[in-house]
Amino acid sequence: MRYYSTRDRTRSVSFREAALTGLAPGGGLFIPEEIPGYRKAVKHSLGSMSFQDIACETILPYVEGDVPPSALEEISAGAFSFPAPLVPVNLERAAFGPLVLELFHGPTAAFKDFGARFMARVFSYLRRGEDRPLRILTATSGDTGGAVADGFFGIEGISVTILYPKGRVSELQEKQIAGLGGNISALAVEGSFDDCQALVKAAFGDPALREKLILSSANSINISRLLPQAVYYAAAAGKALEGRFDGDGEATPRGAGFSGPVRSRPESSAQTNPDGGAIFCVPSGNFGNLTAGLYAMSMGAPIAGFIAATNINKTIPDYLESGEYQTRLSRPTISNAMDVGAPSNFERMSAHWTYPDLSRMIRGVWVTDDETRKTIGTVYQDHGYYLDPHGAVAWTAVQKLRQGLRACAPAAPDTAGPAALIPGAASFAQDVLTAGPMAVLATAHPAKFSGTVEPLTGPVPIPGSIQNALGRTARALTIPAELSALRDFLLSAASKL
Ligand SMILES: *Cc1c(COP(=O)(O)O)cnc(C)c1O
Repeated sequence: MRYYSTRDRTRSVSFREAALTGLAPGGGLFIPEEIPGYRKAVKHSLGSMSFQDIACETILPYVEGDVPPSALEEISAGAFSFPAPLVPVNLERAAFGPLVLELFHGPTAAFKDFGARFMARVFSYLRRGEDRPLRILTATSGDTGGAVADGFFGIEGISVTILYPKGRVSELQEKQIAGLGGNISALAVEGSFDDCQALVKAAFGDPALREKLILSSANSINISRLLPQAVYYAAAAGKALEGRFDGDGEATPRGAGFSGPVRSRPESSAQTNPDGGAIFCVPSGNFGNLTAGLYAMSMGAPIAGFIAATNINKTIPDYLESGEYQTRLSRPTISNAMDVGAPSNFERMSAHWTYPDLSRMIRGVWVTDDETRKTIGTVYQDHGYYLDPHGAVAWTAVQKLRQGLRACAPAAPDTAGPAALIPGAASFAQDVLTAGPMAVLATAHPAKFSGTVEPLTGPVPIPGSIQNALGRTARALTIPAELSALRDFLLSAASKL
């Protein structure tokens, strides 16, 4: 597969170059020159294939020429070493969903594990045989750092330095970033997240460092972080259409009194809508996750459409409604991994699909913090299921879309009545109600956000992954927000390798 920059269609590069470069020259994002299709036999058996097999079928055409099937199998097996269960929240009436696609069973309890773990292993493969080690530099405000640290931990030939704002990340985040050691080093920067980002940028431009080191970034717009996310959509859509749900997994956050046998949808009603497909509601910030879903849908996975759920940072819902794209400054919310006013993957989405096609595939719904809190409380009361604030935004969006059938009165901006729905939302809601199964993506374990969740539900069970991290000791070097300090650290680290 060849890749283009979203800003330059005249020159194509290999997957290897696209992945290892990250950002295209001129600031564009790499996109595949075409979106391949699943083979017919695969398309019809997604519901019964293993996650590993679906991973290889999904990713292989994108890496062909650079990663042979046997290597891809090994990379996928190492990266996707945990499940992505499709869990009915309402145990009595599973078919009346929404279902929850739990993406937080990985080592850092958030869906970014899928992308980061795959990227780390594919980087290592693409650089096999090179004798100079690669140094990855990443700035984090807290969330991405943990997934990157875990993803690259113990990967040969690559070392990682993560910069985070000292004193401004949670205890758990700090332990996830700075508790691993080995090939992962952490720098607590005396400054803000913006200072961390500026330092990383300055390091890439520094002649002394460029001469001595091979530097790269584990940027969230890297194509190798996006592709693996298409896999769980295809796997879940296949299962959902066959009425096959999973039982609670080890990390499923359910109250003790509520567990019970999972009843799959009866055979007879499994194919209520054989021509349609599953609908996924995706809690979104930079829209990498949703873009990956669009790839899966375009490849032929049985998906009818998407709901893009955002908090009040509603740049994309507004675009889907009006066709005009206008970025803003982000505003803080309780679903803070989605506090994005200028979603970086919009450039990728709009390079593949234009308006109004995007508005036919995606419905945008935005949700306030009050609504999100209310959902966390009621879903726990009704079903004993703990949602994290991000999954709760998605759950609320589904609910609002359904209510949109009944009420379409205009509401003042930011009070987010049902009229925050787009024109035509009512008809989409009709589809949603009558079409096939619907799944809400739960992108983080609620225990990661216990400060927000527990006042609404009581104590949240802590999964093993988080317990492990809490048992670590954070070891970070504190540095001032100055390039010379970062340079000294990197050069002395390099000399010790
Ligand atoms: C990063 C993140 C998101 C947003 O995902 P995008 O791909 O940026 O849209 C949602 N939820 C959680 C918990 C995240 O960490």
